[in-house]
Amino acid sequence: MSHVVVIGAGQAGSSCVAKLRNGGFEGRVTLIGSEPALPYQRPPLSKAYLLGDMPLERMFLRPDSFYTDNTIDVRTGQTVTAIDTASQTVTVGDEVLEYTDLVLTTGSAPRRLPAAIGGDLDGVFTVRDLADVDMMAPWCKSGKTALIVGGGYIGLEAAAVCCKLGLNVVLVEMADRILQRVAAAETSNYFRDLHQSHGVDLREGVGLTRLIGDGTVSGAELTDGTTLDVDVVIVGVGISPGTELAEAAGITIDNGIATDAQGRTSAPHVWAAGDCASFPYRGDRIRLESVPNAIDQAECVAENIMGAEKDYVARPWFWSDQYDVKLQIAGLNTGYDRVVTRDGGVAKSFWYYAGDRLLAVDAANDPRAYMIGKRLIEAGKSADPAVVADPGGDLKALLK
Ligand SMILES: Cc1cc2nc3c(=O)[nH]c(=O)nc-3n(C[C@H](O)[C@H](O)[C@H](O)COP(=O)(O)OP(=O)(O)OC[C@H]3O[C@@H](n4cnc5c(N)ncnc54)[C@H](O)[C@@H]3O)c2cc1C
Repeated sequence: MSHVVVIGAGQAGSSCVAKLRNGGFEGRVTLIGSEPALPYQRPPLSKAYLLGDMPLERMFLRPDSFYTDNTIDVRTGQTVTAIDTASQTVTVGDEVLEYTDLVLTTGSAPRRLPAAIGGDLDGVFTVRDLADVDMMAPWCKSGKTALIVGGGYIGLEAAAVCCKLGLNVVLVEMADRILQRVAAAETSNYFRDLHQSHGVDLREGVGLTRLIGDGTVSGAELTDGTTLDVDVVIVGVGISPGTELAEAAGITIDNGIATDAQGRTSAPHVWAAGDCASFPYRGDRIRLESVPNAIDQAECVAENIMGAEKDYVARPWFWSDQYDVKLQIAGLNTGYDRVVTRDGGVAKSFWYYAGDRLLAVDAANDPRAYMIGKRLIEAGKSADPAVVADPGGDLKALLK
């Protein structure tokens, strides 16, 4: 009997096994995850769940009964320690499981601050899983001071939540501006203003030299020579793809577990999807860290295991919630040479172009701009910058 083993019970792993069953796969399906919980959604970890606005029950992607009803053997709290691609087996605890197809959905791990600069002090956290946030929550109390290290989306979302919880918030970003890696200066400016208007002490071009504390963090020394008293530190300095297991098995790694267009890795019958996988995209190779990618790519792999021979067509989109702002991003802005701003007051959007080609849109509280931008990008159409820049310009007409 065929047996699909999926390593990593997160967003991609859960989507893959669901798609296998929805697609009529009748063989054995085993989903193995290190975390004690059933697969859950991560985005609320730095948003509603950290704020205390979302109960644990609403975090789960699918109820327990889904896995039972679909005869999916979910093993939580178990870590796969080795893959043998020659014998087509994986080792989990004392057990060796045979697979006919293996899917790697091992996600990613947050970069941590080195212990040498205080990264291992109590009160220093990353935001990756439920355990992180459950441990962090009691430290995030009104009147305390939080230092957020890193001005990417996770750091900014954590800053917004800490503000809402009544903490004093200092955010340091080593680069010249927040969101430098992922967005244009226009988007950075928008979010800088937003955070400063909520009282965040936002310092750009300033890094962390070291954290100070005797067992528990109590202060921070910054690269500009200033020192701060802090009660809690949240670190959002990026992630590394979960490639170790694949690498040890001799599978090709290239900024993640390298796959072909259909999700196959360099080893026969081994596939990868989600945060851990890099795949061909417009003549290049990319890795996306987002929920929509994890779902779509994992479903594509499931279909290909069932014989579809389908290339994965990525339609990148992303979102971020900060205070009362919902940012929606369509497309990838890599290679942009100019940005056109559409300023509709509360609704603002930033449109990225390479020459005449529309690449991406960052839309803040502007679902219409997001939706139209997304449809244009996916259809390979551009958008007249004059219409975009005019807040009264008819965006919908661009779709014709
Ligand atoms: C705080 C936070 C906020 C985010 N916000 C957004 C957002 O607003 N929008 C958005 O699109 N994306 C967001 N993301 C990103 C999104 O959550 C990820 O891209 C998505 O979860 C990736 O899914 P995945 O299945 O690839 O990895 P994961 O969901 O990380 O799952 C991987 C799982 O594999 C397990 N695993 C790893 N190795 C092994 C092993 N050897 N054996 C067994 N199990 C193993 C891990 O423990 C983990 O549970 C956010 C992420 C975080 C952390």
